[in-house]
Amino acid sequence: MRIAVIGAGVVGVATALALARRGHEPVVFDRRATIGEEASFGCTGLVTQGWPWPWPLGADPMPAWGSRAAPGWLGWVRRTTAGADTAALAAWVRHARALIQLGEDLLDPPQAHLATGDADSEDTPPSSDGLLVFWRHADDHDRVRERLDQLADAGLTLEGLDIDTVRSLEPGLDPDTPLARVLRIGQSFTAVPRQAAMRWRNEALAAGARFEMAHEVLGMTPGERPRLRWRAPDDEAPHEAAFDAVAVCAGAASAGLLRAAGWRGQSWLLQGKSVSAPLMDAVFAPRHPVFDADRQTLLVTQGGRLRIAGAFAAARASAPASPREAYADLYRASEDWFPGAARLRGQHQGTVQHWEALISRSRDGLPLIGVCGLPGIWVNMDHGAQGWAMAPGSARLLTALIERAPTPIEAEPFSPGR
Ligand SMILES: Cc1cc2nc3c(=O)[nH]c(=O)nc-3n(C[C@H](O)[C@H](O)[C@H](O)COP(=O)(O)OP(=O)(O)OC[C@H]3O[C@@H](n4cnc5c(N)ncnc54)[C@H](O)[C@@H]3O)c2cc1C
Repeated sequence: MRIAVIGAGVVGVATALALARRGHEPVVFDRRATIGEEASFGCTGLVTQGWPWPWPLGADPMPAWGSRAAPGWLGWVRRTTAGADTAALAAWVRHARALIQLGEDLLDPPQAHLATGDADSEDTPPSSDGLLVFWRHADDHDRVRERLDQLADAGLTLEGLDIDTVRSLEPGLDPDTPLARVLRIGQSFTAVPRQAAMRWRNEALAAGARFEMAHEVLGMTPGERPRLRWRAPDDEAPHEAAFDAVAVCAGAASAGLLRAAGWRGQSWLLQGKSVSAPLMDAVFAPRHPVFDADRQTLLVTQGGRLRIAGAFAAARASAPASPREAYADLYRASEDWFPGAARLRGQHQGTVQHWEALISRSRDGLPLIGVCGLPGIWVNMDHGAQGWAMAPGSARLLTALIERAPTPIEAEPFSPGR
């Protein structure tokens, strides 16, 4: 089948690869000049098999990891999402894991990361297996103990570590920052999503996919042979063509494109941020991905840099660029935990990269994968803050659905009409 794929972020590129491997002819359209320039660009590259981030828990006073941060965000989430009780949390973990596992051979295995550090730098310390979750105060951890037990019951590998062990695992940790509780989430690792996406694109090209970069899709007309309209660089008049199917993988722009074509579904936009700075001394950089439960912030060593990500908040499609102060929590998380790791301030400010992106998520936190109610239009969207980890699995599931073949995992939990 000749299938138009809208979007060349990690999800669109993975979709093109999965389709091309099955002998289809995907044609990928992206408004940007290169792949992975939007949400996939500054992504921290964490793969965990079901750690909720950011995760609203309905009527709960706090998310699973316990936090006093961002009350506005939590209030917004409670008003706009379905209550997530124990059963919903367990279901989310189970289905998220299944989707990630379905594509895990395409996510960089931790061994590759360990062996090479990272392509950009020989200074990058190895990132061991496991996500470390830090709580400064025992009562914050204890308040969410029940939630953590539920995550463990749902299949997440959680292991409590004593603080001395953690300090020996992470020699860069500031001894003056209080650290009361640490959990290690097994089967977690980080990779560099854009590098992986380049490899996926190259393989997709070799298998017959086409990538039309700097081609903005203007609209689509559903039908047995759906039609796509797009603008190509240097051409005044828009182009139009019919395809056997259209797969919408346009990240946070997906809902807008679909609504214009008659879709009545809903998705929610979040804005997330990251700060990246060159390592000052690799010895003092985090060796594991670290999640600061109080600030809901992730710290990873990636490509000779320290990357700190989080600050998720509700957003609009036209969200203005955030002022520098909006990144303060990310700076603080880095300085609290690994003060010697990166060059963040003073004369080094110029080398610090601030980045923000819109991501979209569904009401229950699982992506929408499948038919969306518009003939000929398929969706692969709303991956929230797990889009890198879920991209290859989502692509395989969508490919099976388009082929009307038996699906490798249960498809209903991801059905856009659920
Ligand atoms: C701060 C932060 C940290 C994160 N950390 C992690 C992490 O550790 N692990 C993880 O798994 N996930 C993480 N994520 C989430 C992950 O980055 C996203 O889920 C993922 O990048 C989404 O990929 P995508 O391909 O759907 O979207 P995008 O990368 O945004 O790609 C969509 C593409 O569609 C194109 N497009 C849109 N509209 C049109 C149009 N009209 N015509 C043509 N092209 C169009 C865009 O140009 C873009 O290239 C993080 C996100 C943020 C913000």
